[in-house]
Amino acid sequence: MLGGTAEARALADALAAEPGVVVTTSLAGRTRDPRLPAGTVRTGGFGGVEGLAAACADVDLLVDATHPFAARMTEHAAAAATRTGTPLVVLRRPAWSPGPGDDWRRVPTTGAAAAAVVGSGRVFLAIGRQGVGEFLDVDAWFLVRAIEPPDVLPARSELVLARGPFPLADERALLRRHRVDVVVAKDSGGATEAKLVASRELGLPVVLIDRPPLPAGVRVVDDVAGALTVVREQPR
Ligand code: NAP
Repeated sequence: MLGGTAEARALADALAAEPGVVVTTSLAGRTRDPRLPAGTVRTGGFGGVEGLAAACADVDLLVDATHPFAARMTEHAAAAATRTGTPLVVLRRPAWSPGPGDDWRRVPTTGAAAAAVVGSGRVFLAIGRQGVGEFLDVDAWFLVRAIEPPDVLPARSELVLARGPFPLADERALLRRHRVDVVVAKDSGGATEAKLVASRELGLPVVLIDRPPLPAGVRVVDDVAGALTVVREQPR
């Protein structure tokens, strides 16, 4: 299993109780001190499609449970599965949809999000450490939140290092304390995050970056139960 998400951990935990199933979770190794799933864990890139294909040699099923924005890993998984004939299932939580009171402005890419917040005053950049570089030349002040420090920061910015999930009261307080005018987030999906609820409550617009598309033809399930069903279908 290609991991790095809460769903991947939940699936590994569920598979640990599944008779006859041995699961290895692969982590990219970006986060120091990651939350570890049950079963075996290996860490670090495979060295591209070749390496992942080699790692699939004694694998009966490849589960891509990476984050919806880990597009490169998902492309590699599809290519390695095709090359080796390994069955592949992608576990991808559903995207978010707006509710009453949400003021979401969808954009296709991080670059488009940067263009959308030019001159916006005070921006909460809640997209993690990757992609922050796209905002370097944007005329605005940024509150940047990430688990690990980004390689670069906009000139006018403050960095908050923190790992979610974040309680609603804290998100509300953060947005108020920093007098945020607009929030930038990725459409990660799953349980509605408190930053979106807090933005709605405070009447703040959210620039929401769309997910990159999935490779054509891959089998997709949208929750852990669906992935478990696929595992159980595999011949043993
Ligand atoms: P990415 O851009 O799609 O992948 C870049 C490279 O990192 C891959 O080609 C692969 O290197 C390596 N890699 C990625 N995921 C891996 C995994 N699970 N196991 C082993 N190698 C992996 O990925 P990313 O966006 O940097 O995300 C890295 C990890 O963080 C993913 O596992 C993802 O689930 C997790 N994550 C990402 C985000 C996000 O917003 N992007 C948010 C939360 C968690 P090789 O080519 O050398 O194999």
